[in-house]
Amino acid sequence: MRDYGVQQMIIDGRPEGADDCFPVINPATEDVIAECPMATQTQLDAAVAAATRAFPSWSSTDAGTRQTALLTLASRLEEHAEELARLITVEQGKPLKGFAGKGARFEVGGAIAWCKATAMMDLLPETVVETDDTRVELHRRPLGVVGSITPWNWPLMIAVWHVVPAIHTGNTVVLKPSSNTPLATLRFVEMAQDVLPPGVLNVVTGNGALGRAMTAHPNIAKIAFTGSTPTGRAIMRSASDTLKRLTLELGGNDAGIVLPDVDPAAIAPKIFGSAFSNSGQTCGALKRLYVHENIYRSMCDQLLKLTGSVVVGDGLNEETDFGPLENKAQLSFVQELARAAAADGASFLTGDPNFEPNRGYFFPITLVSDISDGARLVDEEQFGPILPIIPYTDLDEAVGFANNNPSGLGGSVWSSDLDHAAEIAARLECGTAWINGHGGIRPDVPFGGVKQSGFGVEFGLEGLMQYTSAQAMFIPND
Ligand code: NDP
Repeated sequence: MRDYGVQQMIIDGRPEGADDCFPVINPATEDVIAECPMATQTQLDAAVAAATRAFPSWSSTDAGTRQTALLTLASRLEEHAEELARLITVEQGKPLKGFAGKGARFEVGGAIAWCKATAMMDLLPETVVETDDTRVELHRRPLGVVGSITPWNWPLMIAVWHVVPAIHTGNTVVLKPSSNTPLATLRFVEMAQDVLPPGVLNVVTGNGALGRAMTAHPNIAKIAFTGSTPTGRAIMRSASDTLKRLTLELGGNDAGIVLPDVDPAAIAPKIFGSAFSNSGQTCGALKRLYVHENIYRSMCDQLLKLTGSVVVGDGLNEETDFGPLENKAQLSFVQELARAAAADGASFLTGDPNFEPNRGYFFPITLVSDISDGARLVDEEQFGPILPIIPYTDLDEAVGFANNNPSGLGGSVWSSDLDHAAEIAARLECGTAWINGHGGIRPDVPFGGVKQSGFGVEFGLEGLMQYTSAQAMFIPND
């Protein structure tokens, strides 16, 4: 069944196919639902050339014109919100509605909200020096052609996170979605063609080889990448020959530390949602939960209670809370970590380490207790619906465990004493620290990782600046 037929890329404002195609699979059914063009090097060159041609004119339009275009684009997304949500569900797996309303419709809502909020931001010139004879102004100039390479977990929202600030600051873009989830992104770029001049936003489809070619392309000035740490490293190597600017938003293995002064029943729903939203396939999900021994059993019981009523299944059903893993490789990896945890002697409060779905890349919501650092499920990013719950005795030791990991995207502290929690949060080695919550993001707050979770930030004025270079202008007073 190929419900969505053969798709087309958009290069210089025009649809374009290719001789070779790759299939797009619905992870809930394993059906092929569409075919996408496998872009050739010549087509990538054409997309970069179109973006290069569009740059002088787009970068010299006034900021107000670009803001208006992006607000119109947000309206287009709003008009087609349900269509986009359905595309996301069938290609990515997340339910239309989802647990706590964090499904595909939420993703489209987020894309719209980010598009609007980013469009309204202004990167104004700053006067940094004012003396008797000179004024020095700092201006922000666009970089040129931005290559955006996006992952399969939040495909539309992340495409918007890259594309909108790039275009807003006067750059032009060549976008490559993950070959697992190209459909909503292709539709988004198609909609944008009514709003943007030809060549400002191009989309090419293909696999990692196409991404690699982008990162080495001499006429791409910057790569915005969200995805795995190994691919981030490969991009950095490949981009070094042309000294590209990079924003790398890579994997995380976020720790949450629960202090003994909390009420486990009160915080369990928030922890559950932070860990399992999108079936755990979120870079900033809570992936390791450290709980003080005094409340450990109670915390486990409260989380376990929440698993009783959840529905795992095809996301097109409105009652589904959690969908499948997005792809077979991710399912196999989660299965491997589950089996390793069982072999290490961990307890499965719910779920089955040997679970095999009949059809679709499903894995049940799984809570694993009596496990410690050193187990693969704790040390590695699971990116799936399986949460290790680790007991601790000493708070300093728990902070040490949280930080003793190569990743540093986010972290959280859970306590009824907010000042104490803030002191602990300040000790976490990560780009975002939350108190009594985990994973919340906003379009006006910079987000990014430290250590192996990447560098550069997205969102807010700092995020916009990443698509610009600074130009200092010395202006004599007479
Ligand atoms: P990747 O990092 O491989 O893929 C992300 C994007 O990069 C995709 O568009 C991919 O293309 C492209 N790509 C792959 N190889 C290269 C390359 N050498 N140069 C340039 N671009 C490339 O993620 P995976 O799909 O392999 O996911 C694996 C793991 O990554 C997950 O288990 C999870 O831990 C982490 N991850 C983190 C995400 C985050 O939000 N930070 C998002 C997704 C995954 P294509 O898919 O077409 O091959």
